[in-house]
Amino acid sequence: MQFSELNLIPQLLSAVSAEGYEEPSPIQEQAIPHVLAGKDLLACARTGTGKTAAFALPILQHLAKSPNARGPRVLVLTPTRELAAQIGESFATYGQNLSVSGAVVFGGVNMNGQIRKLRDRRDIIVATPGRLLDLLRQRCVSFDALEVFVLDEADRMLDMGFLPDVRRIIAMLPTKRQTLLFSATMPNDIRALANGILKDPAYVEVTPVASTAEKIVQSVYFVAKSDKRALLERVIRDGNIARALVFTRTKHGADRVAEALERARIGAVAIHGNKSQNARERALSSFKRGETTVLVATDIAARGIDIDGISHVINYDVPNIPESYVHRIGRTARAGAEGIAFSFCDRDERPFLADIERLIKMRIPVANAGQGTQSGQGVPAPTSAHVGDDGRRGADPRAVPPAVRPWPARRSTRIEAQR
Ligand code: AMP
Repeated sequence: MQFSELNLIPQLLSAVSAEGYEEPSPIQEQAIPHVLAGKDLLACARTGTGKTAAFALPILQHLAKSPNARGPRVLVLTPTRELAAQIGESFATYGQNLSVSGAVVFGGVNMNGQIRKLRDRRDIIVATPGRLLDLLRQRCVSFDALEVFVLDEADRMLDMGFLPDVRRIIAMLPTKRQTLLFSATMPNDIRALANGILKDPAYVEVTPVASTAEKIVQSVYFVAKSDKRALLERVIRDGNIARALVFTRTKHGADRVAEALERARIGAVAIHGNKSQNARERALSSFKRGETTVLVATDIAARGIDIDGISHVINYDVPNIPESYVHRIGRTARAGAEGIAFSFCDRDERPFLADIERLIKMRIPVANAGQGTQSGQGVPAPTSAHVGDDGRRGADPRAVPPAVRPWPARRSTRIEAQR
């Protein structure tokens, strides 16, 4: 399908083509017609599928076709400031040929500038829930004229404990509105929320959890906890890794792993909630610029980080929540790129691995099968696998065919914030 078949106005078609998008991604193809028709939408899609354009393009078209200055007319709620900033930039990029205004509102920065923008009655507000609720309570903004509400990354809102704030905000929105809900997974709490806020929604689904995981070349190393550090160094050096995101369960663990890598002269930084916003941003930008090879993060810290070109995700600790595994490995293989995910599994973590395999409905090939895996038996080499030490047959991760490209990669990566 072509963008031109989606009934988008020429100003939007030229903006997407200036971005280098050759054809709509599956979520865009499925969602845009429903949103243009004014329907509510329940969309199961993770970040990286092109979901932002799936809601931003039809919303911009709606605003352009019926201009009025009463705003805010559109509210997008998203869990993190990084996502809020990215969505704001996407609206600016796709709306570059339209006269539509917007503001991004998130916590951790001074409120005054945000209050001024809200008083301007901008068309589109992109916000994180906590800060928006503060501003609503101070009566700095009212959504009486709201026409479209987007709840983005609903499952992460749930994980981060934001659902009560989200519900309070929704209670302050007009009931006559169009509502779009996006979530990577559909746990029961999100289904219940969707039932309460969507009216006769269209349902679109592009990346069910299992198929997300299938697109990434995955393998597991069975290794004693005490050998994980040495294995990590070896995997990073031998695997010729360009840019890896390493996950640990704890903040302290993230610091220790980053320090050990630094001592081994592998550029690494840790990000987690105990670090100041400045320290986090510095760490992120040195990783983005390619000055550090490895970013070590906890699940919470990694939420909302959108970095292109992560070649490897390494689960230094196997996550005890199976959905976290899918979120973690989804950080690689963005926008159709190929990705590789390794997990280091200690004997105690086997039950977590079993839960993950049940969720993703596949066995993760064992990378170091047949080799010593417990302490004292040395660090297993990252070689091709035969039979796992639990008797499982593993496969060489490099022998697995490359990930299928779900849709063509864009030609350029130009993103310009216009406000
Ligand atoms: P999202 O899932 O919205 O975070 O988008 C993921 C990435 O895909 C972003 O960097 C977008 O710029 C890019 N993208 C979105 N739509 C398309 C498209 N139709 N073709 C190529 N790239 C796209």
